[in-house]
Amino acid sequence: MSLLVVGSVAFDAIETPFGKTDKIIGGAATYISLSSSYFTKNVKLVAVVGGDFAKSDIEMLQKHGVNTEGLQIKENEKSFFWSGKYHNDMNSRDTLVTELNVLGTFDPILPESYQDCEYLMLGNLAPAVQKTVIERLKKRPKLIVMDTMNFWMEIAMPDLLETIKLVDVLSINDEEARQLSGEYSLVKAAKKIMELGVKTLIIKKGEHGALLFHKDQIFFAPALPLEEVFDPTGAGDTFAGGFIGYIAKTKDVSFDNMKRALIYGSAMASLCVEKFGTERLLDLSQDDVNSRVQEFIDLAQFEIKLA
Ligand code: AMP
Repeated sequence: MSLLVVGSVAFDAIETPFGKTDKIIGGAATYISLSSSYFTKNVKLVAVVGGDFAKSDIEMLQKHGVNTEGLQIKENEKSFFWSGKYHNDMNSRDTLVTELNVLGTFDPILPESYQDCEYLMLGNLAPAVQKTVIERLKKRPKLIVMDTMNFWMEIAMPDLLETIKLVDVLSINDEEARQLSGEYSLVKAAKKIMELGVKTLIIKKGEHGALLFHKDQIFFAPALPLEEVFDPTGAGDTFAGGFIGYIAKTKDVSFDNMKRALIYGSAMASLCVEKFGTERLLDLSQDDVNSRVQEFIDLAQFEIKLA
């Protein structure tokens, strides 16, 4: 069993009301791999970076048990670069710069040893590349989860619509769900998106939790009210890593288990935002994860005797 993670591995420059960073390691696949590494030690990465990427950052991923055989290094090119600035409420942000660089021509080559993958996490990336990965797997994984963002809706909608039909779970945020469906109500948006061929849909609502839709069932996971959110970058990817990592660990793709996975994903995201960039994900213990999940249980548990 292995979990195949595809997505951007990047340099990010982040500005929040609490501070500003120069280029630090980021990227959807980085956050997903680190987050899922707390659930399974069989994470296989497919991504591309330029010659400017630090070897120590690649070693950091390896130290977390991430197999980087599928990480291509284009020595004479530059890594993907993204820069974003958060508004004071930390719930919304503006993308300042997206430089695709190596991502512009990325051909996702899957090493033969990756063909055993049972779980596939398609992190944020051009939808055509995400689709190529699915096509290159000789055996369809047990579960395919896909993340995407407004950037790809704006420049690659036809590819996106084709790719979402091939996956089991689509994970997007509320703004993206509205953009994709043209509906303001998230319940109506979810219905329309599922009509596009999405079997299970996750809508992330930042500090307002996350919704899970499947057929006519809806489940809600709250977000933990945190005293301080330092940097929300990567929260969505960290959530996705926790979600699929938990499913890969428990080997159960039922809707009931997805509910638990939603809580694990939310717990991992709540840890991620406590520090800048990937910092908080670098040395978590099993106890840190467990006690965070316990806080979620305590937060939302109540008993009512109906009259
Ligand atoms: P999130 O905060 O979960 O939406 O993820 C932020 C991460 O996504 C950053 O680390 C970026 O490097 C990465 N990212 C931003 N834009 C893109 C894009 N168009 N394609 C792939 N990855 C991106």
